[in-house]
Amino acid sequence: QTLGDFFDAMAARQGEHAALVSRHQGRRLSYAELRREVDTLASAMLRSGLRKGDRVGIWAHNGVEWVLMQLATAKVGIILVNINPAYRTSEVEYALNKVACRALVTMPSFKTSDYLAMLRELAPELDRCAPGELRAARLPELRLVVTLGDAEQPGMLRFADWNARGSADDPAVAEAAAALDAHEPINIQFTSGTTGFPKGATLTHNNILNNGYFIGEAMKLTAADRLCIPVPLYHCFGMVLGNLACFTHGATIVYPNDAFDPLATLQAVQDEACTGLHGVPTMFIAMLDHPRFKAFDLSTLRTGIMAGSPCPTEVMKRVVRDMHLSEITIAYGMTETAPVSCQSSTDTPLEKRVSTVGRVQPHLEVKIIDPQTGDVVPRGSPGELCTRGYSVMHGYWGDADKTREVIDAEGWMHTGDLATMDAEGYVNIVGRIKDMVIRGGENVYPREIEEFLYRHPQVQDVQVVGVPDAKYGEELCAWIIPKPGAAPTEDDIRDFCKGQIAHYKIPRYIRFVQSFPMTITGKVQKFKIREAMKQELG
Ligand code: ATP
Ligand code: MG
Repeated sequence: QTLGDFFDAMAARQGEHAALVSRHQGRRLSYAELRREVDTLASAMLRSGLRKGDRVGIWAHNGVEWVLMQLATAKVGIILVNINPAYRTSEVEYALNKVACRALVTMPSFKTSDYLAMLRELAPELDRCAPGELRAARLPELRLVVTLGDAEQPGMLRFADWNARGSADDPAVAEAAAALDAHEPINIQFTSGTTGFPKGATLTHNNILNNGYFIGEAMKLTAADRLCIPVPLYHCFGMVLGNLACFTHGATIVYPNDAFDPLATLQAVQDEACTGLHGVPTMFIAMLDHPRFKAFDLSTLRTGIMAGSPCPTEVMKRVVRDMHLSEITIAYGMTETAPVSCQSSTDTPLEKRVSTVGRVQPHLEVKIIDPQTGDVVPRGSPGELCTRGYSVMHGYWGDADKTREVIDAEGWMHTGDLATMDAEGYVNIVGRIKDMVIRGGENVYPREIEEFLYRHPQVQDVQVVGVPDAKYGEELCAWIIPKPGAAPTEDDIRDFCKGQIAHYKIPRYIRFVQSFPMTITGKVQKFKIREAMKQELG
């Protein structure tokens, strides 16, 4: 089944039931309304000459238009390209050209970022062309630029005017939809860029629709659920774990804001009586530590997903206790696997739910191997996690070599993540191969030390990396964000470690900082911490 078919059937069934609430835009759409808008936009896309297989980018923060683009492109087999709103000119140029986008939808500005100015810098030809007829030297394939703003812009089309060209019952849309196959690509998502340059993962209907469905199943979603999504839609966390988990279960999705804000999120949960809340660990920490946290009534919450990066067990316990998220699950996945491959279910015992990423999703296989030999390691030993099944991407767009590096001849996706699996099949992510530190021949997993340091009463957040060392090969370095008002010293931290963890795990370098280098998905970019330390240590 294609995403379009699935959504249409759901919309027919759900009718006037609320499909989505976009609080910052003041918009509420029922399933029936959403379907009409989707069909209209799909028609407008075809009428502006876009065809099945063409790539269309969206470079924007969360909002109704984002969802319309997701569903309308899928309906007629156009490939949606998610572009990170944090990208700046050279990154956008790279992404658009890498996949040869023909059209791009973007917002005019956000805070201090002027998206249209960035585009004009890349394509000054916009000032002299008719909308849809761009010929730009630096963006040779791009023809059409659509702006989400109200103001007319030279060479661009306003989203509302684009839509006005479409019709909700255009036979061309039905015809295009009927010609699709669920194994065809509909989406290119760039990875977060946590470990280096982002890669464009090509995903099919089959990949993301099934994944969204099984995620919703694990959360036991029903039409009565109202899921709050403060995570970005450009990332699979928002568009699959959020939008698709909801739409495959007839539930309601709530966007608190265009980009994450702890207060707006807490307010949305209270006002909309949300039953679910997704987030990455740093988002939950920001809400829990917000001075006004206690003022909100979060008693309607039941479930949600914590994902994206390792979450300290302590934080999970606070989330369960203080946010009423008694059924929250941790999910593990990656863009390349559409994304989730492991997740606990709402009835998994609490202790397992807060300390592991759960079990393997239905219809997927996971194995944990020695990265050197490729042999499956004994239960409980760390190794590289590999995934196989419906969720594994088509490949990296236009990069057969890179695809072959990660997907082997038997179809296993080699994730680059280190994991263990216990006797009952619960999986624990212990780190990334790239982050593992080898100090004097000992393998050290930074995650384990982070968990330990996190228990220090003056530590708000901590990241541990390896830095090159002439004697030991690598030495450990901890970057610590102290709790507000706290001023721990290096000796405080070392004394805390002594006698508690092995001497070789005690960080040689300790630095106190205000923040970590992060991706917009809220992940810490350890490679930047390593670079900064290399600079400092010469
Ligand atoms: P890049 O591949 O560009 O370096 P990235 O791997 O962070 O970036 P994503 O695909 O967004 O890009 O993230 C997937 C990665 O996030 C996984 O490979 C894993 O390292 C990490 N991750 C996801 N979920 C969890 C989790 N629950 N616990 C620990 N790590 C997780
Ligand atoms: Mg990755």
